[in-house]
Amino acid sequence: MIEVRVPLPGDRSYPVVVGRGCVDRLADGLAAELPRAKRAAVVTQAGVGVAVDPGIEHRVFEVPDGEAAKALSTIEDLCRGFASWGLTRGDVVVGVGGGVVTDVAGFAAASYHRGVPVVHVATTLLAQVDAAIGGKTGVNLPEGKNLVGAFWQPSLVLCDTATLDTLPEREMRCGLGEVAKYHFLGGPDGDGVALDDLDFDARVARCVEIKAEVVAADEREAGRRAVLNYGHTLGHAIETTGRYDLRHGEAVAVGLVYAAELGLALGRIDGDRVAEHRRVVAGYGLPGRLPDGADPDGLMAVMARDKKALDGLTFALDGPAGVEVVAGVDADVVRSTLEAVR
Ligand code: NAD
Repeated sequence: MIEVRVPLPGDRSYPVVVGRGCVDRLADGLAAELPRAKRAAVVTQAGVGVAVDPGIEHRVFEVPDGEAAKALSTIEDLCRGFASWGLTRGDVVVGVGGGVVTDVAGFAAASYHRGVPVVHVATTLLAQVDAAIGGKTGVNLPEGKNLVGAFWQPSLVLCDTATLDTLPEREMRCGLGEVAKYHFLGGPDGDGVALDDLDFDARVARCVEIKAEVVAADEREAGRRAVLNYGHTLGHAIETTGRYDLRHGEAVAVGLVYAAELGLALGRIDGDRVAEHRRVVAGYGLPGRLPDGADPDGLMAVMARDKKALDGLTFALDGPAGVEVVAGVDADVVRSTLEAVR
């Protein structure tokens, strides 16, 4: 087992435990982190199939599957369920699942009684390296994704990598795109070992550590946290513009290679670093070019949305000082660089 601490001001720092079988530590972890909690509301989905023992009185609340479950109506259902059971602010909500579950369990916990502690048992790779870490919670509106939510840090996160044994291959790919991203955000671990040379559990833990460092530096996304969007600007545009049969992680992978090419075009990195992006992405079996039929005009329109075209576009870009947020990138360069990933 590997334990990573997410350092936050006050007494809000929390442990993230990574390893096969660490879900068995839930009862001890709750007793250590939240010794006064008497009841646990376990929020999960039917398809997750991970049984947990919080070691205290508990009740399971199932939410529906898929992005549609990230709705205010789900939060209302959960909070009404908590109220009729008599959950109090001294108790705990335990989210057991992927990012959909941790987002809704976290937001219900943030809202119910103006805030109940939350613990996440992350059961998808994406949740383990990303969604369960950092305290962003929320739901969608018909007008857009993640438009309503709260920053609400968990008290404990368990990333049991054995739960990934049952995760469908395509769901794994969602997480692998983020893992590829961390390769360029964090550099080698404390022993100088590159992310892709670590064994699987150590790699997940290193991703957690990198996200923890960024979150600690910018808990409420005032600036630095935007580097976590590395590869996501084009990735998001690909997901928004087309009905391509691409998972989120695959779109991010194309976005990472594109961001590297853009960094090269702007003189921020050299060809070797671009080649490293292509190698890492390919090493995870992820695509490095746009799907057939991708429409550059449509991609440009989404990437430029909400940005004043005259000021150029904003990207997280690699460079001599690592990945940083760069504003004012010339739209012509953004457009012509799309050819490098066609
Ligand atoms: P998901 O939560 O929808 O899970 C994917 C599918 O896998 C679901 O059907 C789920 O029931 C199933 N599943 C979960 N664990 C399983 C297991 N161990 N075995 C078999 N099946 C299992 O998808 P996701 O990719 O984990 O999360 C996506 C969501 O995360 C998006 O809504 C996204 O907005 C959110 N997200 C949030 C943050 C954040 O910081 N809050 C960051 C990244 C993503």
